[in-house]
Amino acid sequence: MEIASVKGTHDVVGQEAAEERYIEMVMSSAAELYGYSEIIPPVLEYTEVFSRGTGGSSDIVRKEMYTFLDKGDRSVTLRPEFTAGVARAIVSGKLYATLDTPIKLYYHGPAFRYERPQLGRYRQFNQFGVECLGQDSPEADAECILLAVQSFQMLGFKNVHLKVNTIGDEETRKNYREALKAYFAGHIEEMCGDCHERLELNPMRILDCKVEADQKIAADAPRIDKYLSKGSEERYFKTLSILNDFGIEYEKDDSLVRGLDYYSEIVFEIHAVGPSGTDYGALCGGGHYGGLIEQFGGPEMAGVGFAVGLERIQSVMKEENLLGFVETGLDLYVMPVGEGALEGAFQLTEQARLLGFSAETPLASLKMGSLFKKAEKRKAKFALILGEDEIAKGVAQLKNLQTKEQKEIKLSSLDQELDAAFDAAGYGEEHKE
Ligand code: AMP
Repeated sequence: MEIASVKGTHDVVGQEAAEERYIEMVMSSAAELYGYSEIIPPVLEYTEVFSRGTGGSSDIVRKEMYTFLDKGDRSVTLRPEFTAGVARAIVSGKLYATLDTPIKLYYHGPAFRYERPQLGRYRQFNQFGVECLGQDSPEADAECILLAVQSFQMLGFKNVHLKVNTIGDEETRKNYREALKAYFAGHIEEMCGDCHERLELNPMRILDCKVEADQKIAADAPRIDKYLSKGSEERYFKTLSILNDFGIEYEKDDSLVRGLDYYSEIVFEIHAVGPSGTDYGALCGGGHYGGLIEQFGGPEMAGVGFAVGLERIQSVMKEENLLGFVETGLDLYVMPVGEGALEGAFQLTEQARLLGFSAETPLASLKMGSLFKKAEKRKAKFALILGEDEIAKGVAQLKNLQTKEQKEIKLSSLDQELDAAFDAAGYGEEHKE
């Protein structure tokens, strides 16, 4: 019997994998430009990391975690997001004492959420994200948003849609929650089961509800701006004025509250809709947070960060034709002509690889037609054709599979011959990356 993949997971193969790696690589380079270095935290954490860090009122912790008891009866969880784990790592590794502040870390890897699978929503998906900790200022928040926007520009996005909001400081949120509680208490009977729970745990979460009828009710709920403390308001406007200085366009969206409990002050999302009009949901979500490091027993240290979903970015980029140049093809397909050339072709292939050219040879004697079909399937740029006669003369035929031009090359100067042919064909140094 065939065994299916686990619902909500998917295999990423060949071209798709190359595209995902490319996105990861561009985002990593952007983060490094902004002074971030990489952290590779474990996939598995004690459940408490998320119940304390991500927060008990978030949908993630309430119902989406892959949690199980290990063989030592400890409750462990496959990370549903990275921020709580990174905060745990900063405390357990005492990174706050050894690394210079602000601590700037980026990460990427799989995250797991037991959600209803649909377009752009999986149970295992890949995130890239950054955390900047230890500098509590509107400038730090603005720099993080600039990085997010810059990363999308480096990927080739022309128009991303940045949404921002502030959910204020503790005092703001306390007053605002009370106002929301009073408002929603009058409507809760008409609202979904989740909203009943949200009303008890954190009424701000109701603003995030995806049920259409509930969204209509939420549209008339009190707005946060009336409850913002002076400090939060000033901080928000300072960040926005920095974005203005850099010409970053944004939309203020006061229904944006973000689904995780640790956020405070500014929160943001980046959306992009592909040319077909398909909305894959937010590509990026982030914001400022306080208290997280203290919750794990570390010092007071505020942070700001964001995470993006690689699959969603890839879907939009595919639609926008921004990934066409990401190639999985070979540089060379080495073709032995006749049994007697097999060993020579094997050696030549290995020699080409050691020179930095990706190369394949069939390791079997095939007809010329099959060899060319295979080269085409492997998207090879050049064929290197080798018969017994060529071996005896120390040469091979190098054929450009795009232009079909062919020339004889000397095997004693393979490196120079290949470099010259790749340069002449306009491939430059890219084959050596
Ligand atoms: P969050 O950690 O919820 O702020 O999500 C950050 C980003 O991860 C989102 O903007 C999405 O791009 C992506 N993401 C979140 N959940 C999923 C999911 N279930 N499947 C695919 N991507 C997701």
